[in-house]
Amino acid sequence: MKLVIVGGVAGGASAATRARRLSEEAHIVLVERGPDVSFANCGLPYYLGGEIADRAKLLVVTPARLRARFNLDVRVSSSVESIDRRAKTVRIRDLASGRQYDESYDKLILAPGAAPLRPPIPGIDLPGIFALRSLQDMDRIKAALDLGVRQAVVIGAGFIGLELVENLVRLGISTTLVELQDQVLPPLDKEMTTPLAETLATHGVTLLLGDSAESFEPGAEGLVVRLKSGKRLPASLVILGVGVRPENQLAVDAGLAVGERGGIRVNDYLETSDPSIYAVGDAIEVRDAVSGTPTQVPLAGPANRQGRIAADNIFGRRVRYRGTQGTAIVGLFGRVAAMTGASEKALRRAGRPFRMVYVHPAQHAGYYPGAEAMTLKLLFDPTEGKILGAQAVGGEGVDKRIDVLAVAIQAGMTVLDLEEMELAYAPQFGSAKDPINMAGFVASGMLRGDHPQIDVATLMAISPAERPLLLDVRTAEEFAAGHLPAAINIPVDELRSRLGELPSGREIVAYCQVGQRGYLATRILRQAGLPTTNLSGGYKTYKLWNPGVAT
Ligand code: FAD
Repeated sequence: MKLVIVGGVAGGASAATRARRLSEEAHIVLVERGPDVSFANCGLPYYLGGEIADRAKLLVVTPARLRARFNLDVRVSSSVESIDRRAKTVRIRDLASGRQYDESYDKLILAPGAAPLRPPIPGIDLPGIFALRSLQDMDRIKAALDLGVRQAVVIGAGFIGLELVENLVRLGISTTLVELQDQVLPPLDKEMTTPLAETLATHGVTLLLGDSAESFEPGAEGLVVRLKSGKRLPASLVILGVGVRPENQLAVDAGLAVGERGGIRVNDYLETSDPSIYAVGDAIEVRDAVSGTPTQVPLAGPANRQGRIAADNIFGRRVRYRGTQGTAIVGLFGRVAAMTGASEKALRRAGRPFRMVYVHPAQHAGYYPGAEAMTLKLLFDPTEGKILGAQAVGGEGVDKRIDVLAVAIQAGMTVLDLEEMELAYAPQFGSAKDPINMAGFVASGMLRGDHPQIDVATLMAISPAERPLLLDVRTAEEFAAGHLPAAINIPVDELRSRLGELPSGREIVAYCQVGQRGYLATRILRQAGLPTTNLSGGYKTYKLWNPGVAT
């Protein structure tokens, strides 16, 4: 068996090493356009900010190591230019000498990744405007930083954009972040990103939402970024983080099927439309594990797993790729945001019915020093309770909860399973009722009808005249510090003795700070015959939608 692999980083290197573990006989050729294989793309922003001080640490494996340990035929600085599917050969160009030659294959794996988008904006090719994908991109940005940058503009507030902002600020650079959408981190639901926008402001980042770069011009600082809004931002460094496009040219030229957004089409076994050619990583279209629809998810975990699975299938093991659920995480100045599965907006776009709850538990026992609240949003099927997606924002412990929920989604679990989930607990690590259990209790209560809930967006979409009576069950002091419009206040501890103050025929929405006292109030009032619903996640969730209101 002769296996040729195009692309020697996440997906390609995983495929090559797995292939070798499965076959000592195979001739495995790994062709990589750049000078490095298997480097840590995800670490690049942290080298720029100085957190990773040693560049060599980013080289996870060198070509020499791949040759010595895995007996791979590694060809760096070599570009695959075309595929002849009939002859089963690829044309390779040695970038150092310019020499071109053909290499035959029995099986071919395409792992060419995705290239950063460079929109055709006037001035985009001026010096000082960068995108970050390779170590060479990183070196160029580092060289610019070393010349002394006072002001930088990052365009695009996705995962990489946020990481770049954090690292530029760490270097003391005054940084502006421009995002076309009306929120940072567009894969998440908007309200879940409010704490991130606040964190950016706390760290002095100017965040311009709903705006975009219209042109780049030379200026006193080096560059001026002119925005659609008319704003002009002087900067000596601009980094683009506006997304990636699958590197599909080889596949398209070879007549392989590609999806609507350009991802190379593969079946569940990662075979392209040509059974001798597999494709993995950022270049492919995957099946969304929740919706089942085709999508593109450029993440390192899926690319690595796909590389392994493609090699398995080539070497006689029939392994199905389960689809991608988009489990992702980002750190921002000590804050953490993470998601898995479908977002609310994705479910709405797909017209899929769902229910959702918000909880704001601490990552560990409240009495143990360092407890801090996270916001956890759980989306689930309205009839059987199957978990469809989750998002969390907070600090420590966000990663653990999203990972647990990622596994729950993959296992097809329901919110009822979350109630029963047994997770590790000691005061410094969790709670006897872990945030996962809490989300499960709330969602299951809702599913069973014990504990009807309404979410903030649905409530506020009702016209004020038709809205249910809003009953704030927090203390008078909390109420005085800020409350929902037109709410009345009866603290939960006084509720039983003050039932007579509530109108009998009117729907009531009870709320507290995070939803727990609202839950108790809902139970008291419903048992008293008053039609009451709890506001999911309470006033704290209301504030995610209305960040300007008083605490
Ligand atoms: P790549 O790793 O990009 O490798 C493709 C390789 O193929 C490239 O080196 C390219 O030079 C080579 N190639 C392309 N065409 C040819 C050709 N014709 N001939 C020869 N070689 C070719 N993901 C996460 O999950 N978490 C993170 O924290 C994270 N952070 C990131 C930070 C940055 C700055 C970047 C750029 C990406 C980050 N990612 C992260 C995304 C992750 O790196 C990618 O999803 C992953 O690397 C994709 O793997 P891949 O093998 O498909 O492509």
